[in-house]
Amino acid sequence: MNALEARIGGNGHQPERPSWDCLSCRQPWPCPPARVKLGETYGPDRIGLGMYMGALLLAAVIEMPEPAPDDLFQRFVAWTR
Ligand SMILES: [Zn+2]
Repeated sequence: MNALEARIGGNGHQPERPSWDCLSCRQPWPCPPARVKLGETYGPDRIGLGMYMGALLLAAVIEMPEPAPDDLFQRFVAWTR
């Protein structure tokens, strides 16, 4: 587990790599419970959350040829705004 992944989950809703599906509920990660957990972890620090999700987005784009990067941006980063 690297520094990025150390902050993911804690409630079991963690991404399986390289599919990026949730290990717990099998939805595309970040699933709703994972988003709640991330929101709690970062609290009012929406910029920190956005930067963290941006870093994960870069990893996901490399590991997943599909879907398109723009769709992945919506999935990983847009919800943090
Ligand atoms: Zn989940």
